Amino acid sequence: MTLIIGPHVSIAGGYARAAEEALSVGANTFQFFTRNPRGGSVRALNPKDVEALRDQVDSGALVSLLAHAPYTLNMASKNPDTRDFARRAFREDLERLEILPCSLYNFHPGSHVGQGADTGIGLITEILNEVMWEDQTTTVLLEAMSGKGSEIGRDFSELRAIIDGAQYAEHIGVCLDTCHIFSAGYDIAGHLDAVLEEFDRVVGLNRLKALHLNDSKTPFHSNKDRHERLGEGSIGMEAFKNIVTHPLLRDKPFFLETPQKDFKDYAEEIAILRAFERED
Ligand code: FE
Ligand code: FE
Ligand code: ZN
Repeated sequence: MTLIIGPHVSIAGGYARAAEEALSVGANTFQFFTRNPRGGSVRALNPKDVEALRDQVDSGALVSLLAHAPYTLNMASKNPDTRDFARRAFREDLERLEILPCSLYNFHPGSHVGQGADTGIGLITEILNEVMWEDQTTTVLLEAMSGKGSEIGRDFSELRAIIDGAQYAEHIGVCLDTCHIFSAGYDIAGHLDAVLEEFDRVVGLNRLKALHLNDSKTPFHSNKDRHERLGEGSIGMEAFKNIVTHPLLRDKPFFLETPQKDFKDYAEEIAILRAFERED
């Protein structure tokens, strides 16, 4: 099994261009924002561009592409206009993903802005139940969060509660972001097996569909969200070696959201991770 690993790539120049960029750094997958990360509208799909991306997927050069919702999307907001944007953008993205050769759609569950996590979770499931449908082909991923501010998803039990309230739970999975969960207090550097056991007990490892690999600029349990290059933060390279070679994780798709001076520098991180796999 070849490691499935890729960077976050901009689709500003189209999907085919994004695919070429990903391949150029030794990736066999990539993540992209479905629209400007700060929200806004989307351009119409260009059928030729979509076809070129589909060719890369059909040939096996790329697998498990991950679309990321804009991070301003907040289903748990108390502002009805904010929730309405979330509802419309999410539904529109899901419809486009039926056309794109992309099976995973990740989003940040949201921030309850003082209403309390239970109220926030109720608002999230309410919208998910409106915008998802029974035979959709995309799996929606709840991203585990660091717990900054009033973020929901800092605790595996909050992810579980969203899944429990979802009508189409068979189409819902989880994306674990290493920076976020380490910052939230899950010690993947010192006790990876214990964290995975807890995840399995609370959510179920069958729900784990992707991981974001990021080191953290801030200390363990800081509840901050500051990504760092692998090996240059508080998590450390040894932890990433253990993650990408772990029997329960090594077949999952991994995505880098690390800060790089130049896009080309992703090649170095990808090469290091692929070497861990070969040594194993
Ligand atoms: Fe994210
Ligand atoms: Fe992430
Ligand atoms: Zn983050």
